[in-house]
Amino acid sequence: MNVLVIGSGGREHTLIWKIKQSALCDTVYAAPGNAGTADIATNLDLGVNDFEQIGQAVLDNNIELVIVGPEEPLVKGIRNYFASTDTLKDILLVGPDETGARLEGSKDFSKDFMQRHGVPTAGSKTITKDNIAEGKAFLKQVEAPYVLKADGLAAGKGVIITEDIQEAEDTLDEMLAGKFGDASSKVLIEEYLHGIELSVFVLTDGKDYLILPEAKDYKRIGEGDTGPNTGGMGAVSPVPFADAAFMKNVEEKVIIPTVKGLEKDNIDYVGFIFIGLMNKDSEPSVIEYNVRMGDPETEVVLPRIKSDLLQHLIAAAKKDLKSETIEVGPETATTVVAVSAGYPGSYPKGLPMTGFEEVSEGIVFHAGTKQDGQTIVTNGGRVLASTALASSIQGALDLSYANLKKITWEGMTYRKDIGQDLLNYKS
Ligand code: ATP
Repeated sequence: MNVLVIGSGGREHTLIWKIKQSALCDTVYAAPGNAGTADIATNLDLGVNDFEQIGQAVLDNNIELVIVGPEEPLVKGIRNYFASTDTLKDILLVGPDETGARLEGSKDFSKDFMQRHGVPTAGSKTITKDNIAEGKAFLKQVEAPYVLKADGLAAGKGVIITEDIQEAEDTLDEMLAGKFGDASSKVLIEEYLHGIELSVFVLTDGKDYLILPEAKDYKRIGEGDTGPNTGGMGAVSPVPFADAAFMKNVEEKVIIPTVKGLEKDNIDYVGFIFIGLMNKDSEPSVIEYNVRMGDPETEVVLPRIKSDLLQHLIAAAKKDLKSETIEVGPETATTVVAVSAGYPGSYPKGLPMTGFEEVSEGIVFHAGTKQDGQTIVTNGGRVLASTALASSIQGALDLSYANLKKITWEGMTYRKDIGQDLLNYKS
């Protein structure tokens, strides 16, 4: 089968790397891909939201399965575009429809979905310009820290948490006045959840589901979780505090009602659900849904899967996931993300990189890279994700870091403390 993966990050490189291991796989295409995907697949120079051109490329290259990596084309309705185009409607596609994608695209929609289907989540109130006074009264009712969330997509920056009620009130005013443009024309004020955070991943065909390995990620730029948020600086799987009792609770209280809720609401959901969760005394509470895999979580989740991911994806796209079973290996996977100097602020691009040929064990997934003649150059803020598998967290981390030391470019940086908090974790 010919497969197209849409996107250009470490997530997409990992998806392609995994799919290529399947006997069912013929040619893999990436749109637009990066220097890493160019090595193992054929890159197509297409924008991720250019549905017409993507559709044409699918027909031109006899592609039978499309896997959508990032959220934007999903929120913009790529599934609906394929379903409503005669020549494309029979192409298999992994990714929810526009309504399903609202679980990520609108925090108000997602909160309402959780509440209607009995999924545990923090209490909240949605505020618009018309009920600011109600918002301020709600802030006085809940305890600090105060959590304010822009309703729409705000590139991971739309959540503000503060201990100070005055700052919370001011932030509410600023957000409603357009701090995040249209994305904050509605704001959710949410109760603060205490506990430890992790992410759980599910592949569903809208009726049945497979639970993928869980992961913990590291969002801040600085060591000790300091500084601004990023797309993600590293990840570890499995997560020691996600024991069997907790995961049973997650399945029964979160995953089953979520999938049943999709079915009840008649949502055409084929794809991944990434569930951001708080674990408090073994009880889960949902922070957010994302409608695609995480990046860099994919870089530790997929390498742990022993069964044929492409077979699972085809079954999901055919809405026939019932008979699939997933096999997960016992090893720990870690990934450490190396970034450009200046990230998550502005950073240079086009810097030559060296050392890839020295990596023999472990896998260096590419994110913001591109081929420039014979040279690989930087092409983004997050540049590489160095993944390794071992029988212990420490063993995997040693290899992830050893491989990053072999690669260089001007200004390359990465966090040195990924996974440290998990090394001595005792439940
Ligand atoms: P992401 O970049 O993770 O997609 P997002 O903008 O979609 O972020 P959320 O995931 O809802 O926003 O929140 C971002 C982070 O803020 C969470 O990962 C969590 O650490 C923290 N957070 C959000 N809501 C709460 C809450 N109610 N209580 C405590 N912490 C929270």
